[in-house]
Amino acid sequence: MRMTQLFTRTLKQAPAGEVARNAQLLIRAGYVHKTMAGVYSFLPLGLRVLENIKQIVREEMDKVDSQELTMSTLQRKELWQETGRWSDEVVDVWFKSKLQDGTDVGFGWTHEEPIVDLLRNYLKSYKDLPISVYQFQNKLRNELRAKSGIMRGREFVMKDMYSVHASKEDLDNYYNTVIEAYKRCYDRFGIGDETYVTFASGGAFTKFSHEFQTICDAGEDYIYLHRGKNIAVNEEVLDEAVAELGVDRSELEKVKTAEVGNIFNFGTQKSEEMKLVFTDADGKEQYAYMGSYGIGITRVMGVIVEKFADEKGLVWPENIAPFKVYIVAIGDKGKELAGKLYGELADSGMDTLLDDRDERPGVKFADAELMGLPWRITIGDRAIDGDGLFEVTERATGEMKKMNYQQLLEFCLSR
Ligand code: ATP
Ligand code: MG
Repeated sequence: MRMTQLFTRTLKQAPAGEVARNAQLLIRAGYVHKTMAGVYSFLPLGLRVLENIKQIVREEMDKVDSQELTMSTLQRKELWQETGRWSDEVVDVWFKSKLQDGTDVGFGWTHEEPIVDLLRNYLKSYKDLPISVYQFQNKLRNELRAKSGIMRGREFVMKDMYSVHASKEDLDNYYNTVIEAYKRCYDRFGIGDETYVTFASGGAFTKFSHEFQTICDAGEDYIYLHRGKNIAVNEEVLDEAVAELGVDRSELEKVKTAEVGNIFNFGTQKSEEMKLVFTDADGKEQYAYMGSYGIGITRVMGVIVEKFADEKGLVWPENIAPFKVYIVAIGDKGKELAGKLYGELADSGMDTLLDDRDERPGVKFADAELMGLPWRITIGDRAIDGDGLFEVTERATGEMKKMNYQQLLEFCLSR
């Protein structure tokens, strides 16, 4: 992508009233646009980041034999009445509307009830099980407070996955497999070493659910952590969990975190409420066992911003960055050679960001730092006329190495 063609541009200042650092930086760097409090549009750069996060999740969910689908945002009231969750007293984040004929509809804040309804149309016998399906979906929640930028949206992207099993054992095994898949996701996002599987309040069947909590000052949660034993407990269930796990409360360190994922073992609770049944090998009707597994895709993006950004701007881990390389062209010969590098990389299938604008070098360097791509390559007249060695600067560390043209090409292609 050439900067002269990229929609949109960097800004000197974030809009007044945007208090979250992640959103301020993402807006200034041209990744997102703020529609209103808690509602953001993703511009081309921001969308690339989201897609990279989604692709990692997609690969890991496919590895645990889940299949991707997409469900509708509009939902039927009757499904939610079956479980008592249509009421605004029970679920305080509903957005609701009416069809022209007066029929009530809800906008999906989760898809637990709709997925059970969908599944009961297709599940017949034990031979159909297990089933695991997932989607990436914009969830709508009428959140009371939306002061955390893209970490708490009124509209946000979630990966939600649901699995159905013939037995408790099969669900328990799958649940543990998903915990491992989630760990691989957070590792690949670059936040694995600071993300903890955390005991949290559970459903009706299991005492605890599991949250994935990432240490983050901009988070809204606190967890209690035993780093040595790798035990983490949510504030809500502290007393219960401490008793259960046999650790001493005083050994736990209180840290601020962001919840980047949450998984539930429902047992047969949902199936009993909504009559999701199958016939077993003896022809008897049984309730299905169900699990539900969420990852906050846009929240993960916000957490990555908060954790890695510095005073100069964004810093993206290589796996997540919208482009791995930012090429700064300086001077006429510089522009020509930078264009050649850009073209050769593109021909080899590597998309880079080429700053081909008629701007002063200082403006380009500042924008490169604000945008946070992992590697900046500077191709200018001075190096071309001099020793033929070009600067390659790592955004995260500021470290610089020099390479000739051939080395540059090889370096980029090996990223
Ligand atoms: P929270 O406690 O933060 O409100 P939750 O427990 O209601 O979240 P879940 O229903 O478990 O959220 O949703 C699954 C995941 O979606 C969460 O772990 C979180 O990462 C993400 N998420 C939830 N609400 C939001 C939101 N308003 N904006 C962005 N991400 C969210
Ligand atoms: Mg949760």
